[in-house]
Amino acid sequence: MPNRCFEIPFLSSSDSSDGPYDNQIFSTYIDRKPSWTVDDILSPKQSSHSQTALADTIQTWLFFGLIHEAFGHHARQRDFIDVDPSGQALVTTAPLWRLCYDTFLSSAHPEASSRSHELEKSIALAAEFVGRIHLGLQDIDEELEKVLFSVMILCDALQLSINPSTSVLPSRQWPLSDVLLENHMRLVGWCPSDMQKVTKMLDLHSLTLASKIPPRDPGSHDRCDSVRCYANDVVSGEYLRKHHNCNGCEEFVADPVEICDILDDGHLPLIDPSQGNGPKLRLKSTGEAPKYIAISHVWSDGLGNPHRNAIYRCQLSRLQDLACCLSQPALPLWLDTISCPRDYEHIRERARKAYGQAIAFMRRTYRDAETVLVLDHSLLDVDSKNLTHLGILLRFVTCGWTRRLWTYQEGILARKLLVQFADRAVDIDEVYSRWQDSSKAIFYPSIRGAYKELRILLDSGDDDYTEKILHRVSRPLQFRKTSVASDEALCLSTLANLSPERVKRVSESEKNKRMETFYSNLPTISKQIIFWHGDRLQQIGFRWAPASFLNNSNLYFRDWDHGPSAECNKAMLSCSGLSFDCPGILLGKLSGGIQSFLVTTGPDTWYHVSCRQFDGQEGVPFRIVPDHNMPDISLALLNPTSFQEDFSTPGFETRVSLIVAIVAEEDGTLIAQTLCPAFVFRKVGIGAELPLVMKTYQFFRKCLQDPDTPERDCDSDSELDVENASLLEDESLVGQYQARGRAAVLEHVQRPVSAQGENLLWAGTTMLNGRLSLVREGMHSIFEGSEIASRQRWCLD
Ligand SMILES: [Zn+2]
Ligand SMILES: [Zn+2]
Repeated sequence: MPNRCFEIPFLSSSDSSDGPYDNQIFSTYIDRKPSWTVDDILSPKQSSHSQTALADTIQTWLFFGLIHEAFGHHARQRDFIDVDPSGQALVTTAPLWRLCYDTFLSSAHPEASSRSHELEKSIALAAEFVGRIHLGLQDIDEELEKVLFSVMILCDALQLSINPSTSVLPSRQWPLSDVLLENHMRLVGWCPSDMQKVTKMLDLHSLTLASKIPPRDPGSHDRCDSVRCYANDVVSGEYLRKHHNCNGCEEFVADPVEICDILDDGHLPLIDPSQGNGPKLRLKSTGEAPKYIAISHVWSDGLGNPHRNAIYRCQLSRLQDLACCLSQPALPLWLDTISCPRDYEHIRERARKAYGQAIAFMRRTYRDAETVLVLDHSLLDVDSKNLTHLGILLRFVTCGWTRRLWTYQEGILARKLLVQFADRAVDIDEVYSRWQDSSKAIFYPSIRGAYKELRILLDSGDDDYTEKILHRVSRPLQFRKTSVASDEALCLSTLANLSPERVKRVSESEKNKRMETFYSNLPTISKQIIFWHGDRLQQIGFRWAPASFLNNSNLYFRDWDHGPSAECNKAMLSCSGLSFDCPGILLGKLSGGIQSFLVTTGPDTWYHVSCRQFDGQEGVPFRIVPDHNMPDISLALLNPTSFQEDFSTPGFETRVSLIVAIVAEEDGTLIAQTLCPAFVFRKVGIGAELPLVMKTYQFFRKCLQDPDTPERDCDSDSELDVENASLLEDESLVGQYQARGRAAVLEHVQRPVSAQGENLLWAGTTMLNGRLSLVREGMHSIFEGSEIASRQRWCLD
């Protein structure tokens, strides 16, 4: 059945034989169209034209016009119009890819590159119009939505043709064009968190294809939201083992003592390819059979066994059939269900130790396997021969296997990764490299990143491997989850390439302390970790540390360059916290709440800081409200590099920084406690943006700079303008300030905060070492900060 979602209606009623567009100058088309102005497009809500008329105009101008702009007489508008069996005229992009390739990517038309600068401007214009229409309209008719979508498809295709390595795609700058796809995906039963993941991960062209894939496990995502998927969780005590094409059979049971013995000897227990008829599962050890296939499966698919190392006969014979297809004679299998000892009562201590050993061997298990074979139930029913290379890659990067924690390391560590489809096991690296060689690959740029995220981590030989590992895995892990929270520390230990002894220490520690044990066992830690802005551990000494990297789509680290890490990034862990050198800005004493405030470090240097905390769902403003119990603490804003350096390049980007409370100083080291992550912007034109606060600040500042002469001549204050004075909302008070200057401000900031009184509005305003901090209605609004040297030593809890 054709998918109506992707059929773009051809709307023009023009009777021109070639097509609706007049083939004249692109940017001024709207001026040539009677009764239309550019405002009808920029503010469609105020326009007298209907959405249908807007859709027609947009299609003519931004779709057909852009095609003319890109290809001139090489493209006929008629070729982009198709008629469906019912006689309805549709717009098609079928000729687009070949035209793009011939015009821009092959060298057949050298004149194309000279036009590409102009064309880029036209693409940007079209994309911006699409974005603005989306912003200007609450509800968009489906017809208009489809037209906007088709313009974005065209914009991306042209941009990629001009510059295949572009990192800025029009549709990602205006990602509102995904609405149509999202609506469609929601309707057919995609999990909201899958949608969130793919819209974040994929470009519009790839996303369009992905949205046509049937959703995994339709009907089981009713409780899911855009962050979390609740499907496929294994509930303790309710695990459902499944048979394979079988109404019920006996099982093979492995001897737990034999499993423990093999692990004790430093080998991995494997399933012997030849089995007898008895109930006992024959094992082999990697000591005698070093070549084996490791199975990577999703537990909820039914191949696991939480109680003992046993597998149904039907399941084993299925696995053995699959193994036979990969090599002859079939290799033994490593399957966690058999190869990791369960928790047996009669040999509890022994089994637990052996389990720790199996976990400690995990990296080697997947690294040393001849093949890691992926089994995901949604792919097992699909014939790969009916799919293109791109289709296989898209299925792979969106399947349920990519949403589980354990499978991440299984895929990333595998030397050879095969993905089982209905007809065969597909070598995913081979598919990827073949696809990359195809001429259409450039139109799907995000596939590369999506594939790499599943297959390439870091070269473990790099000196800074461990230091960078948490940054690297934080992104691939953000959409993954596990049924057992304490497993995260085990997987991180494997990914961080900790020695087997250290991994064992993590697995043997109490479950609720495993993350701490993991951090303690990292041989090096980068101070960049403190700029994580998700949930943190609560334990004293570890309050700087991320609590979990899982299941938090909106969490991320501050960007960190890919170059080798500098010496200044190194941090040391002690029992009182993490020690490192770090620059920042000293803010002042906490005497009010903090949430959103300004910091100045010089006459023209202003930063806007907003504190955020993240609860896993979304960022919410963070508010610290001091109470009487709060110790007398100073605040500081930490940043990996000095702020001057960080904002030295033009384009005032946001930086993720950290607000800490300084609780003590010992031998030059500042002892501090993590308060909350903060987003920092460099500000210009601050006076116009926040006039009230800024004028009051300037009034206070001016008073402070005036000579401290109580017997001043009032006339000399005449230059203080009345507008500034009125901001203090108490004329007599302003008069006093003007008269007494510095002395008045000093008195103000020393006065204890009173619940009522003449100074209520700015009560709590303080001064530390000559630096003011304005507090308004109980909240800090401005800090005069001072830069902290890069070599300042910190110990952060
Ligand atoms: Zn779900
Ligand atoms: Zn069975």
